[in-house]
Amino acid sequence: MSKITNYVLKRYWWYGLTTIVIFVLPFITINGNHFFLLSFDHKKLNLLFTAFDTQELYLMPFVLIGLFLTIFFVTTLAGRVWCAWSCPQTIFRVIYRDLIQTKILGIRKSIQDKQKEYSGDYIKKIIAVLLFYCISIIAVSNLLWYFIPPEDFFVYIQNPSEHLLLMGIIFCASLFLTLDVTYLAEKFCVYVCPYARIQSVMFDRHTVQVIYDDQRGGVVYDGKTKLYKKPPEGECIGCEACVSVCPTHIDIRQGMQLDCINCLECADACSKIQAKFNRPSLINWTSSEAIKTRQKVKYFRFRTVAYSIVLLIALIALILMSQTKENMLLNVNRSSELYSIENKQNGLEITNAYTLLFQNTDNKTHEYYFDVQIQGSNEQNIKIVRPSAPFKLEANAKAKKIVVLKAIKELASDDKKDSIIPIIITAYAIDDKERIVVKRNSIFVYPKTTELERARAK
Ligand code: SF4
Ligand code: SF4
Repeated sequence: MSKITNYVLKRYWWYGLTTIVIFVLPFITINGNHFFLLSFDHKKLNLLFTAFDTQELYLMPFVLIGLFLTIFFVTTLAGRVWCAWSCPQTIFRVIYRDLIQTKILGIRKSIQDKQKEYSGDYIKKIIAVLLFYCISIIAVSNLLWYFIPPEDFFVYIQNPSEHLLLMGIIFCASLFLTLDVTYLAEKFCVYVCPYARIQSVMFDRHTVQVIYDDQRGGVVYDGKTKLYKKPPEGECIGCEACVSVCPTHIDIRQGMQLDCINCLECADACSKIQAKFNRPSLINWTSSEAIKTRQKVKYFRFRTVAYSIVLLIALIALILMSQTKENMLLNVNRSSELYSIENKQNGLEITNAYTLLFQNTDNKTHEYYFDVQIQGSNEQNIKIVRPSAPFKLEANAKAKKIVVLKAIKELASDDKKDSIIPIIITAYAIDDKERIVVKRNSIFVYPKTTELERARAK
């Protein structure tokens, strides 16, 4: 007996698994950081359980490049595998049409017959839409947890009057989703979804797709013209089980079509029919080249190998960048005045002024201070006059500090021009100096000797 395929059951298991992952992921934190969180409220980005400030959004292009490369790679390799196995639109349609309408409310008589529209039963149809609206609210909330962390989200929704925008987004987006799934249905895949329209350009003759084997089954169509219900030669018996079960209302025997979401329901339907004749399904998940040559699908080819190498490079770059990430932010700006010279009792005091902007990008409060060193020197030649003591910064807080540095030795002796002394400012959290430390280069301007003599003479 030929094997009966059950891709549908495998898809349901996969839907369950991805749904659990997507629901649970926002609740998992490591050191207070989420797997992915783009919070405009807290101005922070969490990626792979690492916290980034929104000023570090330069990482997003790497994430997007990785995302697009993954789409190119997966589409070239396995066609519209996303559409059938992971696209929320397909999952929601299965929940609405096959679970709510067919299994729970009995509005549709069989999940094997997705073509037929059943009239009447208006009460049940309204109940189906209302049930799906409740599911939409949960789904939209789940999406929002990647932008408003669950720990905030559940506090906000307890005070809806104070968070009208959030409540409005939840209810309007849920309404839109309900309209999409209950009314637009697969028309969304065919007419709206941009991925459906561009994916065919990524295909090659080795790309895995849902294909009717007309060498075995017999030719049914000549272009768009249907020649036969049952081809005169071939194994197709013209039962059209593959047509009735198709959620996008197409006949796969006509060849590859934009409307086909690769759900493989037709392959399962045909495998049951052909099993009665001890033959494998006429519709398979394979490549056009494999059908033509009767060989196995060629997965390792130039395009797929090239995409995987570039993808790997982008992933390594992202991991390296996230590991070299600084755990605080520091901006250094010099004041417009080059230097200040004051004639004091114990000699000239030469100072430079700066504005330093500190930001604590960590999840807890830290006490910060900094050191200043002349580049390439281990001696203490410059002293911090201001601020004279460390200061505290709460998580995500910023502080602007006026910094005054004083030369405690003669740093240069040039009678023609002021000397530019390169310095390194090392800022750190006193309580976590190993992890939270950043260095910035700047300069200390030391006056020419003629200026120093003029100041002494005053
Ligand atoms: S289910 Fe198979 S046998 Fe029946 S019409 Fe479709 S291709 Fe032909
Ligand atoms: S043709 Fe087959 S794989 Fe394509 S959408 Fe219809 S049932 Fe799904």
